[in-house]
Amino acid sequence: MVRCLAFQFNFDYRVTMLLVLWALGWSMIALAALVHLPAPAVAAIGAVMIASHNLLDPVRPPSGSALAAVWSILHRPAVVLATSRHIVFAAYPLIPWIGVTALGYGLGQLYREREKRRTFLFRAGVGLTAAFVVLRWLDVYGDPVPWSAQVDQLRTVLSFLNTTKYPPSLLFLLMTLGPAALFLWAVDGRTPRLLRPALVFGRVPLFYFVAHLVVIHLVATLVCYVRYGDAHWMFESPRLDLYPITPPPGWGYSLSIVYLVWASVVATLYPVCRWYAALKQRRADWWLSYLSPTPSRVQSAPREEDDVKAFVSTVVLAITVSFVCADAQTASEAHVAAAKAAAGADFAGVFNRICSEAVPSPAAATSGSARGAAPPRPAGPPPRDSWHAEPVKVFDNLYFLGQTEYSVWAVTTSAGIILIDSIFDYSVDDEVAGGLKKMGLDPATIKYVIVSHGHSDHSGGAKYLQDRFNAHVLLGAADWDLLDRSNGTRPRRDLVATDGQKLTLGDTTITIYATPGHTLGTLSTVFPVTDHGTPHVAASWGGTAFNWMANQSAYITPDRPARFWFETYSRSARRFKEVTAKAGADVLISNHTIFDGSKTKLPALERRKPGEPHPYVIGTSGVQRYLTVVDECAQAGLARLQ
Ligand SMILES: [Zn+2]
Repeated sequence: MVRCLAFQFNFDYRVTMLLVLWALGWSMIALAALVHLPAPAVAAIGAVMIASHNLLDPVRPPSGSALAAVWSILHRPAVVLATSRHIVFAAYPLIPWIGVTALGYGLGQLYREREKRRTFLFRAGVGLTAAFVVLRWLDVYGDPVPWSAQVDQLRTVLSFLNTTKYPPSLLFLLMTLGPAALFLWAVDGRTPRLLRPALVFGRVPLFYFVAHLVVIHLVATLVCYVRYGDAHWMFESPRLDLYPITPPPGWGYSLSIVYLVWASVVATLYPVCRWYAALKQRRADWWLSYLSPTPSRVQSAPREEDDVKAFVSTVVLAITVSFVCADAQTASEAHVAAAKAAAGADFAGVFNRICSEAVPSPAAATSGSARGAAPPRPAGPPPRDSWHAEPVKVFDNLYFLGQTEYSVWAVTTSAGIILIDSIFDYSVDDEVAGGLKKMGLDPATIKYVIVSHGHSDHSGGAKYLQDRFNAHVLLGAADWDLLDRSNGTRPRRDLVATDGQKLTLGDTTITIYATPGHTLGTLSTVFPVTDHGTPHVAASWGGTAFNWMANQSAYITPDRPARFWFETYSRSARRFKEVTAKAGADVLISNHTIFDGSKTKLPALERRKPGEPHPYVIGTSGVQRYLTVVDECAQAGLARLQ
């Protein structure tokens, strides 16, 4: 229930995390057995578990084995089940938490005698804290991650304190339980006025825990909706490495904002918890005990005071939400928002990909650079059923000949065929030569291949087209150089395309523009198409992703930092916007099917009946919107660097 209504807001059960409630539940079950022993024995068992469990750190059963799953539940956080439908992750291993629970139960007996308790809390607090400092200093046992000297003293202290919570190491527990004991000693029997509201939360801990999850998820949903006009991310099961949510592009706030949100959530829950504590006191229904196990006495307070507090905390929450929304409008956020607005539903594919690259969310940044980077491809061509797509006649003179993810566009003219891009070396024969034949066209009539840029997903097939059909290959000068430095299949040096060049074959002219950004030599094109005789103008944006973010080593040099790439890309995008506006381009195609909507447009085309609108004809405003998305995402990336 907590998972579906608080953590994730859905019932798909794709990701289940075994968290604090899981560990508490099992701890209580274990305690149900231990209570038959004398309290000092229970405390001793707990202390031994806490002190010795780090000896188990080196134990690592072979991954994937049943033993590994059991071990991750007991001691080492890990995925215990991973199928395409369900992932179960155990984050709170049981051994140390059962130890902590047993120790707490055993020491709870101290609360029978005040003087004995005060002496014990003081000595234990000082002793545990000192033990932490000494053990951490020695760095030989108690935590798997050693501390180290940092650039300044503050950071070195933070490194010293930065112990492991999953599972809670001996040092983590010394560092938390030691000062906690000292705190209990200090406030024993005389809670300072300032801290008295905390007693309210202390009386209903489980109720508070569950309620705060619901509130923070609701606040996140609201903020997400205000910022992006959409909040679907907040209802989806997350990717495991992005837990607890899959963040929208640019998601996340500064630490000060996070503290402000935290404070206002606590303040908001104060009156709710107070109400619940009073309810628990008035009534003894069995179900109330499940939401907060220990019934306790609550001093009654005047109703008016409650009302004032409720009002104040609501105001604080409202101020915080507006603060958070205003903070979103930093330069970078404004560009992401502009990109999002321009993308609409039809260009969500390109927005999601490149704005996330430009403005990685903090969660994605800490989980490594896996996002956006192409996974390493095993040697040899991938199996055909993983990439093959059927050719489609898109306009009277334009054919799609690509794979599921990559596009080749064939422009037919009165004097032969011009291809835009050539996909991979392993698929060109099947998709291009085979595809043209299926469409009743002769691949021997391919005269030119305009390769948008020198990456193997677009240039790998060009050599085959040269060798087999004597086609001429055009690339930007810089990308011929790029191919010289690559070790994939590449065409022999041929024609160098220049900015503004008009490539005419028979009755058709394609205008080529140099649009550096994705690579230095990236080419974009503008050319006429007809739909049952009705003329339109197509524009092809030749390189889309911000590869320098994921693949830094191939792009970033002292002369060409990330700023250079974003600026160059953005300048090209704005210039191509002008070019396409002037040309009246009303069709936008890409060389990746995910970017231009081909994944839905190609099937839509097959179902299209006479007289119905053409799915690729999106009007001049649609083309401008697309280029606005790529430009704004580039500007978001640039603003983020500043
Ligand atoms: Zn590329």
